[in-house]
Amino acid sequence: MKYVNEFRDGGVAQGLARAIASEVRPDRRYNFMEFCGGHTHAISRYGVPDLLPPNVRMIHGPGCPVCVLPIGRIDLAIRLALDNGVILCTYADTMRVPASDGLSLMRAKARGGDIRMVYAVTDALKIARDHPDREVVFFAIGFETTTPPTAVAIKLARDQGLSNFSVLCCHVLTPSAIMNILESPEVRDLGTVPLDGFIGPAHVSTVIGSRPYAFFAEEYRKPVVIAGFEPLDVMQAILMLVRQVNEGRAVVENEFTRAVTEQGNEKAQDLVSEVFESRRSFEWRGLGEVPYSALRIREGFAAFDAERRYGLAYRPVPDNKACDCGAILRGVKGPTDCKLFGTVCTPENPMGSCMVSSEGACAAHYTYGRYKDAPALEAGA
Ligand code: SF4
Repeated sequence: MKYVNEFRDGGVAQGLARAIASEVRPDRRYNFMEFCGGHTHAISRYGVPDLLPPNVRMIHGPGCPVCVLPIGRIDLAIRLALDNGVILCTYADTMRVPASDGLSLMRAKARGGDIRMVYAVTDALKIARDHPDREVVFFAIGFETTTPPTAVAIKLARDQGLSNFSVLCCHVLTPSAIMNILESPEVRDLGTVPLDGFIGPAHVSTVIGSRPYAFFAEEYRKPVVIAGFEPLDVMQAILMLVRQVNEGRAVVENEFTRAVTEQGNEKAQDLVSEVFESRRSFEWRGLGEVPYSALRIREGFAAFDAERRYGLAYRPVPDNKACDCGAILRGVKGPTDCKLFGTVCTPENPMGSCMVSSEGACAAHYTYGRYKDAPALEAGA
C-alpha cells in the first residue's frame, strides 16, 4: 500500500534503532512522553520499545479521547437516553466505558435507551432528519481533530432548520492537557515522572499546527517532535528527541511534514472558533479539573447545545478505586502496575476507560502482549 508500507519497513526501523543506540549516552536516561493514544497504539503494536536501548523509556500520556472522558460526562449521556428519551448517538468506543451504577452506554441501551453507534456526526444529522418527531443528541467527544466536524454539523443543523438535533459537547484541548502534565506535582516537584520531551500529536497537529507547542519548548525547556502514527515516524521522532536532549536544545520539530504545517488548518480553526468557546474548567479523568481545557457551544448556537436544552448539571463521580487509569493518564503508572490488568480487567470486560479504546494504554498493552515481559515502572527512573 503506497504511503503506508514505506513507513513500516523493518529494515529501515532496524537502521533507526541502530542510530538511536549509537547516539544515546550511556550515562543518562531518556524519558519521553507520547501524548497521543494513536502513538501509544503504534508503539505497542509494532514493538517499538523492543527496538530501543534500555535507557530510553516511553511514557504514555493522556491523549486518548475515550480514556480522558470522566464518568460524570458519560452519566449525563446515559441520563439523556434513559430519562429524556432522546436518541443518543456516539462513537463506538464510548459505548463501553464504565459509568455509574454499573452502567455504560451499552448497558443503558440494553435497558431500553435508544443509543446508537455512529461513524460520523453526519450520521447523527441523518437520524435527526429521518426522525423529525424525536430528539436526537450527538455525544461529541475528542480532541481538536474531531471538533471541526461537530462545528460543521451544528452549522448544517441551523441552516437546515433541524430543531430536533443537539450536541452534548465534551471536546477537549491538547495544549491545556500538556500544560497540566508539566505543572503536575509529579513532574514539577516530586520528580516521579521525569520528562525529557514529548512526541507531539499527529492528527491534532494537522488542525492546530505546530505553533501551539512552542510555549512548552521555550518556557519549560522540553523538546517536542510532532510525529505521524506509523512505526518509522515514531522511531524517527525518538531519534530527533535524543539529538535535542544531547545537544541541550528544546525546540519544536516536525517529523510529520507530510501532513502538519506550522499554522495548521486555519479554515478548520475558524469554524471551531465560530461555533465554540473555551470552558472555564472541565474535568478530565486522571487530571481532574483543568482550566480552559475544553470547549462549549457559543450562545449564538445555544439551541443546539444539549446541556442548555435539557438543563443538564454536571456531577463529578470518583473513579473505581481499584482502577489505575488516573495514574496511567498522568504518566505516573504503567498498565502492568494495575492489579486488575489482564485478570479482572480485559478488553472484553473493561473496568476502566484505558482498557476500552484501542488507543488506551491498557488495551494496547494487552492486545499486543506487551505486558508479558514488561518491568513495572520504576519511580523516578
Ligand atoms: S487495567 Fe483496567 S482497571 Fe487497571 S488501570 Fe487499566 S483500565 Fe483501569
